[in-house]
Amino acid sequence: MREAKRRKRDIVTKDYWDRFHCGCTHQCDNRCLNRSMACECDSDNCNQPDECHNRPFARMMAQNIGSRVELMATERCGTGLQATMPFRTGQFIIEYTGRIVEGRTITEQLNAGKGQYLLRLSNNKAIDGSMDGSIARYTNHSCEPNCEMVKWNVKSVEHIILVASRDIDPSEELTCDYGHM
Ligand SMILES: [Zn+2]
Ligand SMILES: [Zn+2]
Repeated sequence: MREAKRRKRDIVTKDYWDRFHCGCTHQCDNRCLNRSMACECDSDNCNQPDECHNRPFARMMAQNIGSRVELMATERCGTGLQATMPFRTGQFIIEYTGRIVEGRTITEQLNAGKGQYLLRLSNNKAIDGSMDGSIARYTNHSCEPNCEMVKWNVKSVEHIILVASRDIDPSEELTCDYGHM
């Protein structure tokens, strides 16, 4: 029984590997297939653990949120989010989490004026940061932002991440352009 289970898991893993491994033979850099498809490398789709530069989500998750960001009071925009450490261009800062809402619920939330914390994953699916969301929802809008919200695939699940679009100093407010998503 246990043997059968293990075999089944091996088949699933092998199938996933065949379909999704990036095939890099030296290192995963800008030419990595996973990276070009906005997909995180891990042990199931990449065989360059020591030379892989495409694991920014895992790198982010290895540090607790408090050492990366905290809430701040802004002059004009109420509560905002600020960096508590320096970030380099392209570095993942915090995941935008919340409840997944679909179809009509999106329209209902928008009609009820509760669309402020909705971020679209696709035409029919969005993350509502007002429900069980991370403090990423306090990221204010700016027309000259230092971050962007990026869709990133981890083990076949889409995530939205706040990513530095330039180098950022500690205590800078983090902003993104919600009009350009
Ligand atoms: Zn690769
Ligand atoms: Zn890789």
